[in-house]
Amino acid sequence: MELDLRSRVVVVTGAARGIGAVIAQRFAAEGARVVALDLAFPEEPDARPVDRVTCDVADPSSVEAAVAEVVSRHGTIDVLVNNAGINVEGAVADLDWERWRTCFDVNVGGVFLMSQAVAPVMQNAGRGRIINAASFAAIIPSVGSAAYAASKAAVVQLTRVLASELGPFDITVNAYAPGMVPTAMNGFADMPQEAQDRLLDTLSLRRWESPDDVANLLLFLASDAASYITGTLVDVSGGKLATQIPARAHGR
Ligand code: NAD
Repeated sequence: MELDLRSRVVVVTGAARGIGAVIAQRFAAEGARVVALDLAFPEEPDARPVDRVTCDVADPSSVEAAVAEVVSRHGTIDVLVNNAGINVEGAVADLDWERWRTCFDVNVGGVFLMSQAVAPVMQNAGRGRIINAASFAAIIPSVGSAAYAASKAAVVQLTRVLASELGPFDITVNAYAPGMVPTAMNGFADMPQEAQDRLLDTLSLRRWESPDDVANLLLFLASDAASYITGTLVDVSGGKLATQIPARAHGR
């Protein structure tokens, strides 16, 4: 199957590190013109050329300026990947209002502001793809994840509404739910082996997810091959809790 993403202008938020950085590189490898948005960037250049624009997705004026900058440099935006997100942990009893709000401002507000700013550009072009990072936490939350899980569930509903509102312009809007990708956000790979095993035992595939597992899905969703898919949440979690005790199949 030919993805043919050559020359597409792809904006990836939160692309300075983690999953977003790999998503940006994978689109660049397909020949797309990629613009990474993030709060700040490391000194070293990317392996493949990726344009960089500083942006706080939770700040309306920063988003407006960044989208205008992308359009002035590249003329249009074909694909928006709303990857930027933060993890805020804490039981409801301990979670202070500021941390709750920051979580929603970035995870939900960021998707709202970026989509609102980019949609008119896509509407003018008469096509577009918006792809939003939800999480497995939007399907089944963890203890202590009230802010994060609720914010990601909100991303799923926002995705569905956007899909309907932008459908008349041939813009598709989808969300995806990674399971457990070891990154700086969660430190899974640095946990004691026993803790890692407990988490891995929740997966049908029983291995950590790689950023490339996520990127593979996104390349497809951005391509013409996915032109009839909109308003969905795609589970890309390696079969997390697809059954009650998946570890049994691994002899554990
Ligand atoms: P990460 O912390 O490694 O990277 C997140 C990036 O987003 C960072 O570069 C950070 O600077 C940027 N960012 C944060 N706030 C921002 C803001 N206000 N404006 C612009 N950029 C901002 O995280 P990750 O693990 O790569 O996760 C990426 C996305 O995938 C997140 O939305 C996360 O919720 C989601 N996700 C991750 C996992 C996982 O297992 N890692 C699982 C499910 C969902």
